[in-house]
Amino acid sequence: MRQFIPVAEPALVGNERAYVIDCLDSTWISSRGAYIGRFERAFAEFCGARHAIACSSGTAALHLALLALGVGPGDEVIVPTLTYVATANAVVYCGARPVFVDSEPATWNIDPALLEARITPCTRGIVAVHLYGHPADMGAVVDIARRHQLFVVEDAAEGLGAEAHCRRVGMFGDLAAFSFYGNKIVTTGEGGMVICNDDLSAARVRRLKEQGITPGRPYWAEEIGYNYRMTNIAAAIGLAQIERVDWHLARRRANAALYRAALEGCAGLELVGEQPWARHAYWMNCVLLARDTPIERDALIAAMAMQGVETRPVFYPLHTLPIYRDADQERAFPVAEALAARGLNLPSSALLTAEEIAYVAETLLTLVEPQSRLLSRHRFS
Ligand SMILES: *Cc1c(COP(=O)(O)O)cnc(C)c1O
Repeated sequence: MRQFIPVAEPALVGNERAYVIDCLDSTWISSRGAYIGRFERAFAEFCGARHAIACSSGTAALHLALLALGVGPGDEVIVPTLTYVATANAVVYCGARPVFVDSEPATWNIDPALLEARITPCTRGIVAVHLYGHPADMGAVVDIARRHQLFVVEDAAEGLGAEAHCRRVGMFGDLAAFSFYGNKIVTTGEGGMVICNDDLSAARVRRLKEQGITPGRPYWAEEIGYNYRMTNIAAAIGLAQIERVDWHLARRRANAALYRAALEGCAGLELVGEQPWARHAYWMNCVLLARDTPIERDALIAAMAMQGVETRPVFYPLHTLPIYRDADQERAFPVAEALAARGLNLPSSALLTAEEIAYVAETLLTLVEPQSRLLSRHRFS
């Protein structure tokens, strides 16, 4: 067993090395080369999308998706407050304003019951996030969006392979964004992907990621674009990862089942499970500390680290960050605040062994339930 068990790590178990060496040997190391198209096609096929457009990060993918939908100054875009900061930043990059919504207690995702109260004449759309790999309730979100003629973007950075209502996430909304950062389910080091079915949106995303240059007319730009390209080397890694995506997802699922078996029934902890309509991708295994545990969350994280186990606090709700605090002063987001105060992520890499998971669970239980653990040890010894 390892001395240090990380929260996340890349699992480079397939053709990654061979494909990267092929890039080096061929000198196709920049943002042209065969691997980009191959990765895009393989990814589109996995998602059941007509188009997949590779780009430089998940944040760039979100920005491109919102730009393709025409988001601009004066617009409002509804986002969950409990998410990674990039979700709201991409809205701000467009000159628009993020409007926050609280979480559902069961899934931690944007609460559809609170959505309509946040819609104003300036609202253009909703970004739903599949937080930690549990899908958002896309049936309800899409329903509300259609009724109010709003777009839906899925921030699927953490949700690759998750399913809602037996359909893989990414194709519920108008466009979806994925991230391939080093800790994500599939990684390219840094990278992202936009997927959609609409030909015009796809063309717009492709143009915007290439400086707004008109296709077929080199150096001619009719709008301000960006350099959001992915390199062939990154795509080579991504292709190797997506070739083995079923292995990655199965490993995560098996690990989550081991955590559940080891931790279920512990009075001090609540495990975040799967809703009946959902298939969790288990980017992160999350637990919520009960209110009366003898140890506070941040002290628990420090104590786990002393035992060689890395854990992470849940994201800060965005309305509590200095950059977003003023945007929504009036509002209370009690669910997200409670989850953020008492939630943590356990090591969730696809490479974890059963022995490592047992050690993480045992370390956690000993800290969270010192009394009952001592009793049970006594009873069985
Ligand atoms: C990782 C992540 C992003 C951003 O992806 P990068 O590739 O790091 O830019 C966006 N949204 C969520 C929910 C994420 O977890």
